[in-house]
Amino acid sequence: MALIPHVIGGEKIDAAERTQPVFNPATGEQQHQLAIASVETVEQAIAAAKAALPAWRRTSLTKRADVFFNLRQLLKQRTPELSAIVTSEHGKVLSDAAGEISRGLENVEFASGLLHLLKGERDEQVSTGVDVHSVKQPVGVVAAITPFNFPVMVPLWMVASAIACGNTVVLKPSERDPSASVFIADLFREAGLPDGVLNVVHGDKVAVDTLLGSDDVKAVSFVGSTPIAKSIYERAAANGKRVQALGGAKNHMIVMPDADLNMAADAAVSAAYGSAGERCMAVSVVVAVGGVGDELVSKIAERVKELKIGDGTDPASEMGPLITAEAKARVESYVAGAADEGGTVVIDGREQRFDNDGFFTGVSLIDNVSTDSKVYRDEIFGPVLAVVRVDSYDDGVQLINDHQFGNGTAIFTRDGGLARQFEFEVEAGMVGINVPIPVPVGSFSFGGWKDSLFGDSHIYGPESIHFYTRSKVITTRWPSPEQSKVDLGFPGNS
Ligand code: NAD
Repeated sequence: MALIPHVIGGEKIDAAERTQPVFNPATGEQQHQLAIASVETVEQAIAAAKAALPAWRRTSLTKRADVFFNLRQLLKQRTPELSAIVTSEHGKVLSDAAGEISRGLENVEFASGLLHLLKGERDEQVSTGVDVHSVKQPVGVVAAITPFNFPVMVPLWMVASAIACGNTVVLKPSERDPSASVFIADLFREAGLPDGVLNVVHGDKVAVDTLLGSDDVKAVSFVGSTPIAKSIYERAAANGKRVQALGGAKNHMIVMPDADLNMAADAAVSAAYGSAGERCMAVSVVVAVGGVGDELVSKIAERVKELKIGDGTDPASEMGPLITAEAKARVESYVAGAADEGGTVVIDGREQRFDNDGFFTGVSLIDNVSTDSKVYRDEIFGPVLAVVRVDSYDDGVQLINDHQFGNGTAIFTRDGGLARQFEFEVEAGMVGINVPIPVPVGSFSFGGWKDSLFGDSHIYGPESIHFYTRSKVITTRWPSPEQSKVDLGFPGNS
């Protein structure tokens, strides 16, 4: 069985003290062995990144930009191959995998504009004969730690901007679907990136702890579940590193009585069950306002019955399996407990039968969910949509603002004034107006509020340039030496 290697200093390293299986979630069968990094292997990757830093930092911006232009072409050409890798290890359907690649491509396109992005500022004559300018310099070696649910897009969220800014990177992808990161490292190399600038190590807590404990790692970008994000944030900050740690979500979609209910139902089903609900921007709660509940739930249920669930390589499939057998058991446990918590189980995904041993579950729809239930409070991260009924818009917004998470949210309405009010007062980092999954385009930055993000920088886009660089401000004067004299006063402006 093929061993998925680390990529360190441009070399494929397949020596492994420990290995772990990588499954095909659609069949439930193991398809690869994964090399799990020891402390020494991670240290080797950090050393390779550190060694590559001086030359990459000195590489001209135009040459750096060339890498991203080349990478863009390669990613486009190789999308079918990369989609197949994603589907075989993650399980999402091929079209969804291609969609994730196209969203990751936005980050590559953004990074190719690095000449503009890294421009500093200059102010002439701030004092007589004195000029000031600023430059943005790389922070050094960056650790990028990513989740299973977007094995292409989330690594590209981080590594594109980090590398464009002149840093070198150690990427630790999810151990569940690691092959896409190795493929991305190969494409970067083909695009002209020097060896050692992007290293990939596979592993678990041991690898992450080594990255967090290393004095040579200067910044940490993390995306994953909230408990891990919080702990990474605390430990990286305690070790003096720059850190951004994006966590989990529970995204609410408010449906107002004036909304087009067919459109709202289409949006809710697409956003709740796409990628089997394993998206941090999935809609997991529909908030039905002022009596639209019955009609909306029946429209959602009609659509759900039509969904085709199956192997992601089958073009007829609209939704694939969950990532692991444990994830399936966990998701189904929420559905099993929903009625006891007072919810009305309109569709029970556990009842659907599949004719293979993949990690499939059907989609579930739970109505009349109460806000103190686990189905409402927890991030389930599966194809389970909760419906909460409220009397008014104000009650709906209050629900969102009271929730632990604040990643994305949406409102469906025809009332522009109300939509503006929602935008103004809702406590979430990304808001959709008649858009159920408002993932910002690559020229903006992505990030949630509250327990959906620890740190003050959102990821990719303009905020990533700030995160991955240190600014330096240079004050210059060229006085005539004859005017020079000793002056112990603090220099003021004149
Ligand atoms: P996870 O937290 O289990 O794993 C994320 C990364 O952390 C992986 O690389 C994993 O190997 C590592 N890790 C796991 N346990 C660790 C530990 N104890 N110590 C150190 N490192 C550890 O998350 P996941 O299951 O891979 O991904 C799903 C989660 O990610 C969901 O909660 C989802 O909402 C979240 N997510 C958030 C965003 C966002 O932008 N906010 C985007 C995608 C996914």
